[in-house]
Amino acid sequence: MIIYLDYNATTPCDPRVVQAMLPYFTEIYGNPANGLHVLGRKAARAMETAREQVATLMGALPGEIFFTSGATESNHLAIVGASEYAPPTRRKIITCAVEHKSVLAPCKRLRENGFEVVILPVDENGLMRLNDLEKTLDENTFLVSIQAANNEIGTIQPIAEIATLAHRYGALVHTDAAQAIGKIPVNVDTLGIDLLSLSAHKIYGPKGIGALYVRGGKQKIAIRPLLEGGGQENGLRSGTSNVSGIVGLGTACEIATTEISIENTRIQKLRDKLEKNLLEKIPNLRINARLAPRLPNTSNLTFEEEADALLLRLPHLMMSTGSACNTGAPEPSHVLQAIGLSRQQASSSIRISLGRMTKEEDIQVITEQVYSAISLKT
Ligand code: PMP
Repeated sequence: MIIYLDYNATTPCDPRVVQAMLPYFTEIYGNPANGLHVLGRKAARAMETAREQVATLMGALPGEIFFTSGATESNHLAIVGASEYAPPTRRKIITCAVEHKSVLAPCKRLRENGFEVVILPVDENGLMRLNDLEKTLDENTFLVSIQAANNEIGTIQPIAEIATLAHRYGALVHTDAAQAIGKIPVNVDTLGIDLLSLSAHKIYGPKGIGALYVRGGKQKIAIRPLLEGGGQENGLRSGTSNVSGIVGLGTACEIATTEISIENTRIQKLRDKLEKNLLEKIPNLRINARLAPRLPNTSNLTFEEEADALLLRLPHLMMSTGSACNTGAPEPSHVLQAIGLSRQQASSSIRISLGRMTKEEDIQVITEQVYSAISLKT
């Protein structure tokens, strides 16, 4: 029996999502850009329903949602696309050390293009200090890009406070919410977010589809498209729309809207129980970011041996070391090093992320298997 514990890397598609998508492969396959025939019009209508479903999950308006291929693209569109139209008087971008590489990489590219990019440190729980932000913000700041929640340790950043500070200086606020959406409530108005990125496959939708939220739509925040051509997505993202994927994303968001609070209470109980059980058996275990506000499903653990070796002795538990998004990266996690772990400790850490299919009885199995794998250490 295998137990999947890697929901932060990706989630299985909810069967309800697959059911909703199916007709758009073989029956309603028209190009939504073609309103001349009924198959095109039906596809276009399905996309607009999905846009509403995505908007509802975050308290936005449908016209503020733009479909992309996922959070990586949305992050690039928000950071690179918006910066291309930054006024000459605003040349600073602020981000933080525990961001996903799909935020850090475009920021570094902008540095090559003459922007000043400030990467703020975080504390031992992965939290950015508001004090540091306040000291760095000035009238020259164009964008503050801080993730809503971390993929490796689960730390939830104080986005509302960050946005208030950033807006005081007239800066835009972008948040990579790939991990937060569907796990904690995210409302763009309450949090004061201008730009938000998300990916469907983190919330039981299909891979390769996501969205960017733009406050007030294209009219309010000028963004230069990364892809130009047919002018889809109101000119912000050309390319024939991935209709079935978009329908899947919409359905996944609708399910998240109705099930998020009950589901996450259940998952948090399981996560807390797992950590308690493991600590009882393995007193030297270090639980990273334990004192921070954390995603309810995430547990990042540092053991006393290399994580790769430990995982080899746990073939039935599908967990990961660091971030699965860093394909084959031999470097120990930049996130764990940013919270003060040594390279040795970082490469001795395992991320367990629970989800919709995790069952109460799994917790005991996981505890026992991890404990016996540690006892087997030679
Ligand atoms: N940001 C965060 C915080 C993530 O966890 C991920 C996925 N690991 C991404 C961005 C990128 O998402 P995608 O691979 O779907 O583009």
